[in-house]
Amino acid sequence: MEVIRQEQIWFRDHLVRQPKQNIKYRLSHFVVKQVTDDGILLYNNVTGCLLFFKSEKDIKENFIFLVEYWFYLPVDSFNECDWVDFLRTKRIDDASHQGINSYVIMTTLDCNARCFYCYEKGTPRISMTEKNALVTSEYIQRHSTNKVKLTWFGGEPLLNTVVMDLICQKLNDFGISYFSHIITNGLLFTRNIVNKAINVWKLKRVQITLDGTEQVYLRAKAYVNSQGSEFQIVLDNIEALLNSKIAVNIRLNQDAYNTEDLLELLAILHNRFGTNPYLTIYNHLLFNFEGDYTQEQIGCYYKLKNKLTVLEYIKGYKLPNGMTDHQCMADSSHSLVITPSGIIGKCEHFTEEKMIGSIFTEDIDSSVLKMWNERYDKQKECNLCPLYPTCIRIKMCPNQKKHCSDFYRKDRMESLNIAIKYCYKEWKIHKAELTGLEN
Ligand code: SF4
Ligand code: SF4
Repeated sequence: MEVIRQEQIWFRDHLVRQPKQNIKYRLSHFVVKQVTDDGILLYNNVTGCLLFFKSEKDIKENFIFLVEYWFYLPVDSFNECDWVDFLRTKRIDDASHQGINSYVIMTTLDCNARCFYCYEKGTPRISMTEKNALVTSEYIQRHSTNKVKLTWFGGEPLLNTVVMDLICQKLNDFGISYFSHIITNGLLFTRNIVNKAINVWKLKRVQITLDGTEQVYLRAKAYVNSQGSEFQIVLDNIEALLNSKIAVNIRLNQDAYNTEDLLELLAILHNRFGTNPYLTIYNHLLFNFEGDYTQEQIGCYYKLKNKLTVLEYIKGYKLPNGMTDHQCMADSSHSLVITPSGIIGKCEHFTEEKMIGSIFTEDIDSSVLKMWNERYDKQKECNLCPLYPTCIRIKMCPNQKKHCSDFYRKDRMESLNIAIKYCYKEWKIHKAELTGLEN
């Protein structure tokens, strides 16, 4: 047996070893078993521990360890969902003193594109003023103790880099350590901006959406005052970011109409960037507000996703890390969204309603905050679903439905399997490098 990934630190410190008794055990429903070319992987989706075994015999020989580390559980009288709920509540309590460590900062609601699917249509295109940027940094200083993650968001956040500079400069003055991510269309990432991103914003990850090959992209984005060269500029900018070792996550917005075109785009990206270690690409079905996705949409989705998997663009972007405490920023007590006018919210899709406060006061609307924490009840399938420890579905989320679909389950399960495989592959590469160094 080899330990590929240890359990999360919190479990190391708080979860006692399960004593092996003289009773019957079964594999936990929340353990994912994956057969590889050279053995078997067992991944515990509660603790995040990933183990490799040469064979079933190897698993049997390590049975006591597997009981102690909660891979095997008593056949009788053990409710796994209740156990996970208990652990999650305990961990959330333990972290309650930690303050806010993640801020989505909307630098502007203005944008240089006019995507047909934009959910911010009709929202006033206001930008953050320098005064609000200063108050934002002071708010962060008052509410954060640890290192903070800033996510620049818009509109197109790069239309207002002045406030990004200012917030970072103030955080430096306050001695607050930070790093940042950005969601952008990438058009304004010139060489100077990339340098600033590294040195001032401490930018680690960029998410850029592409909708298709050049002409499809230009039609979907409908840039204001388009020169017709935006697609090529964005590809050049992606290259500059990758060369600067900033992780780029390309999101392919997909619907049934553009799948073949996205496959063509993928060939262009592969040709240009190869398997750059800083590049991940994933496909995202444009949300169907009318109801569930159609079979046609699902078929197209898998066609593209399979290709992305084969080309290894869907990596362990989120390495399997066991139980989660929240779905997203909206139900996390450590995350806030700040709009250009200084209003505080919980979800980046809401800039005017369902807001909880403002950077100008310490008051928080606890009734709205409570609404953001309301979760859908467990359904009967959850009892046997390996995803339960990481599956939290909040009622206010516009992307969630009351009941999960087969597609939702299958897709998340597949992503978890890819992440497990990727984690194992990385471990093998690392091990081979170490062995090489020793010889
Ligand atoms: S994916 Fe569905 S069945 Fe599985 S835990 Fe989530 S809600 Fe329950
Ligand atoms: S849309 Fe849903 S997942 Fe995204 S931030 Fe809002 S609540 Fe969270």
